[in-house]
Amino acid sequence: MATAPLAPGSTDRTRVRRLPEKAVSERDVLHRVLDAGLVGHVAVSDDQGRPYVLPVAYARDGDRVLIHGSTGSRLFRALAAGAPTCLTVTLLDGLVVARSAFESSMNYRSAMVFGICEVVEGDAKAAALDLLTDHLLPGRRADLRPHKKKELAATLVLALPLDETSVKVSANHPTDDEDDLDTPVWAGTVPLGETYYDAVPAPDLRFDLPVPEYVRAWRR
Ligand SMILES: Cc1cc2nc3c(=O)[nH]c(=O)nc-3n(C[C@H](O)[C@H](O)[C@H](O)COP(=O)(O)OP(=O)(O)OC[C@H]3O[C@@H](n4cnc5c(N)ncnc54)[C@H](O)[C@@H]3O)c2cc1C
Repeated sequence: MATAPLAPGSTDRTRVRRLPEKAVSERDVLHRVLDAGLVGHVAVSDDQGRPYVLPVAYARDGDRVLIHGSTGSRLFRALAAGAPTCLTVTLLDGLVVARSAFESSMNYRSAMVFGICEVVEGDAKAAALDLLTDHLLPGRRADLRPHKKKELAATLVLALPLDETSVKVSANHPTDDEDDLDTPVWAGTVPLGETYYDAVPAPDLRFDLPVPEYVRAWRR
């Protein structure tokens, strides 16, 4: 019988100790954080134990996260060979402007996923790449030609299971010391986030085509 997926923060490694009130244990929050992001950072050590953190595009596929990279990438090959990793996704939601530098901070949603990647192969590989496209460029797939064999051969697709995870969410106003509240300076929060700007046609576009509706619809 399949075991239920673990709640975020429920293992010794993932239990949030520092500011545990920001820890979230619901898996649907984990999913929502992952679904709201486009870029994650994947940690991996090279064969001399030196750490690297790779920014990567990703997509959630149920209870796993998909990433892809070149078969020529040394670090992707290390991940494919079973190097342990930690993927983080950070959504910066705002600046917290307190009356002191010490209490000033950020509002955020962040997730960590620990584990070992599995290589996605065969028919599942093209399907995984399609899912990545659907997450990164929603609506685009219908306009794209099929993957070429050589493109598939040049691409490593990896799946990181959402087995051992943690989520931390900070959504606060400044919490200044009582004696700082009498300081006559403004305090508050400044929301911020990723945004889309107007699409820019490629200079080599050979047809007079409008920006597709699905591109116009991209918003964050
Ligand atoms: C945008 C942003 C900016 C930040 N800036 C700072 C900063 O400038 N200085 C600073 O000290 N901290 C900062 N943090 C918080 C930082 O990520 C750590 O949570 C914090 O430093 C505590 O680290 P720790 O190793 O003591 O955590 P612990 O609580 O000991 O970590 C235990 C476990 O909790 C989980 N965990 C810890 N942090 C996070 C997280 N952020 N997201 C998801 N799971 C987590 C992991 O599974 C980890 O193994 C920032 C976080 C974000 C998202």
